[in-house]
Amino acid sequence: MRETAAGPSRHGPQDYPAPFLGLARELRRLPGIGARSAERIALFLVSSRDARPADLAAAISAAASGLRPCQNCGFFATDDLCAFCADPARGGREICVVEQPTDILPIERTGTFRGLYHVLGGRLSPLDHIGPDELRIAGLLERVAREHPSEVILALSADVEGEATTHYLRQALAASPARITRIAHGLPAGGGLDHADPLTLQRALAGRVSLPANDPAGA
Ligand code: ZN
Repeated sequence: MRETAAGPSRHGPQDYPAPFLGLARELRRLPGIGARSAERIALFLVSSRDARPADLAAAISAAASGLRPCQNCGFFATDDLCAFCADPARGGREICVVEQPTDILPIERTGTFRGLYHVLGGRLSPLDHIGPDELRIAGLLERVAREHPSEVILALSADVEGEATTHYLRQALAASPARITRIAHGLPAGGGLDHADPLTLQRALAGRVSLPANDPAGA
């Protein structure tokens, strides 16, 4: 059936009721959720007996108000320090720099790293107006100066922005006596650490390479 230039004839309401639209609009603001997905999730929340929307709303509120970034590394914490930074058994010999808090547990699950972490909170992205000041870079430099790690491992995404951030950090850490390394590639291009399977990540960690100060791309 072809629609005319004026569109199909409509006799009922042409859009969903405002509460449904409002819910779908909020869902659509979430990362990775497009218009269709937002409608599907909204439909589930308002019509499925299994949805428990009040529980979901409560969990969102509890997480948003009960979590804060660790003052030292930026990982999720319920107190000033996260469980890693508060653990005296975790040495400060190595600092592994990641983009997001969700990158840490995949590395933990490889069972091969016992140092501390540092969460940048993203990566440099001029198009999105994310520069060094928007990331936890100053905090990293302070930590390196204070904690004197033997190694700083840059475990960032293998895409253009991840590379640019790695390059920037290598320069920013040029004066540090710490060995600066990056995890080996073999991670899916464009994929974050949270998408890598444990074996790939374990190999990427084990195969990390030094980044000489004058060859920041580590080629
Ligand atoms: Zn921490």
